[in-house]
Amino acid sequence: MSITTRFAPSPTGYLHVGGARTALFSWLYARKHGGKFILRIEDTDLERSTQESVNAILEGMAWLGLDYDEGPYYQTHHFDRYKEIIQQLIAQGDAYYCYCSKDELEQLRTEQMANKEKPRYNGKCRELTGLEESREAVVRFKNPIDGVVTIEDLVKGDIVVANKELDDLIIARADGSPTYNLTVVVDDMDMKVTHVIRGDDHINNTPRQMNILKALGAELPKYAHLPMILGSDGARLSKRHGAVSVMQFRDDGYLPEALLNYLVRLGWSHGDQEIFSLDEMVEYFELDDVNVSASTFNMEKLLWLNHQYIMNSDPVHVARHLSWHIGQLGIDPVQGPDLVDVVKAQRERSKTLVEMAAASVYFYKEFDSYDEKAAKKNFTVGSDDVLEQLHAKLAEVKSWSAEPLHQVIVDLAEALGLNMGKVAQPLRVAVCGSAVSPAIDITLTLIGREKTLARLERAINYIRDQK
Ligand code: GLU
Repeated sequence: MSITTRFAPSPTGYLHVGGARTALFSWLYARKHGGKFILRIEDTDLERSTQESVNAILEGMAWLGLDYDEGPYYQTHHFDRYKEIIQQLIAQGDAYYCYCSKDELEQLRTEQMANKEKPRYNGKCRELTGLEESREAVVRFKNPIDGVVTIEDLVKGDIVVANKELDDLIIARADGSPTYNLTVVVDDMDMKVTHVIRGDDHINNTPRQMNILKALGAELPKYAHLPMILGSDGARLSKRHGAVSVMQFRDDGYLPEALLNYLVRLGWSHGDQEIFSLDEMVEYFELDDVNVSASTFNMEKLLWLNHQYIMNSDPVHVARHLSWHIGQLGIDPVQGPDLVDVVKAQRERSKTLVEMAAASVYFYKEFDSYDEKAAKKNFTVGSDDVLEQLHAKLAEVKSWSAEPLHQVIVDLAEALGLNMGKVAQPLRVAVCGSAVSPAIDITLTLIGREKTLARLERAINYIRDQK
C-alpha cells in the first residue's frame, strides 16, 4: 500500500513548534515508506485565518526543509465539494436539517447540567425529513446510536468510544458553511490520506470523523495521535514559556537541523541516541517508538544540540545560515573575510548563530569604542610601544597567514622578555575592541593586513591620548 500523510495546519497564527513536530513526524513517516506528504491549509475559519499566517507556515516549512509532494491545498477552494458531500449525506439519510434555536439548545444544556448529565444534543430533529426553507437550519450528522467506535491508534493503542457518547454534530452551519470535522473528513478521503498523524488534542474528533467516513463508504485511514508538548511548569507549551514559533528559533540563531533533531527526540526515541542526521531520522523513525505521554520542552537541551550542530556541520552550510544573521546586523558579508573561515574560527565558542554573528562584527566593520574593562586592563603604560613594535613587524610580514603572524608575536614577546599574553592581549583589544576573540593569529588573518595595521595605529594613538 502506498502511504499518504498530511500536515493540516489552520492559519491562525505563527507555525508553532508543536505543529512543526506534527509536520515532521508526518513527513518522516511518508519519506520512510516512499509515500506522499501533503500540505493542506485549513483556512475555512474566515475570521481567524490570515494570509500572514499562511505565509508564516510556508516560510517555516521551507526553513525546516520539510518539502511536500502535493499542496499547499486550501480548504477554502473546496467549498463546492463540501456542499456536495453534505447534500449526499442528507440524501442518503445520514444527515438532517436541525431547526433548534440557540435558546432552545442553551436551555437543553442548562437542564442537562442541572441533572448532572453530559451536555449533548437530544436528537429532536433527527427524524425530520426535507427542508423547511422558511426556517433557519443547520445540518447535523446522524451519528449511529448503538455500538462503539474503536480507534486503533498507532501511538496510544486501542481507544474505544461508545456511540451513545457522541451526539449528532453540526456539519453545516446555518449559512451553509461546513464545519471542521466535515472538511477534514472530505479532504482526507479525497486526498486518499492513509495515515492521519496529528496532535492528541484532536482525539475527541476522531470517532466522529470515522463515523462520517464510514457513512461515506470511504476507507478509514490509520490514526496516530501525538502527545502534547509541555512547558517546564507542566502547562501546555505556549508563548509565555519563551520562543514557540519556528521562525523565532531562526531569528534566535538556531540551525533548522538542530531544531528538527530536537523535535524528533521530543516524544520519540531510538535507543539512547541523541543526534540524528535527517537520513538517520528517516531510517529509524517508527510510530511505535513515539511516547504515549506528554513531553517537556527543554530549551537548554535544544541549545546544547544547536551548539553540536554548529560545531559539527559542514562549515559551508553553517556559513549560509550565518550570512543571514550577519545581514540582519546591517553588514554585507562580502565586505570582509569568507564566512566559512569565520565559522571555523568561531564555532567552538558560539552556541547560536546570533552569538556568532555578534562576535564577528569586527571582522567586517570598524568598532566604535573599546570595551572599557579590556582597554583599562590591557592598554597600560608601555603597551603603546609594544603595539608600535608589533605594527612595524607585522607590516613586514610577506604572507598574511596564521603561522608567520604567530611567529611575529612569539618573537616580539621573547625579544621584550614578556610573556605572550602581554603582547597578544593588547593586540587583541586593539584589533577587536574587546578581549575576546578566536586565537590571535587566526583573528589577524580574518581581519586582514590593512585593517589590522590601521587598528594598531588607532590603538597607539588612543593610548597616547590617555596619557
Ligand atoms: N487544522 C487542524 C489544526 O490546525 C488540524 C486538523 C487535523 O490534523 O486533522 O489543529
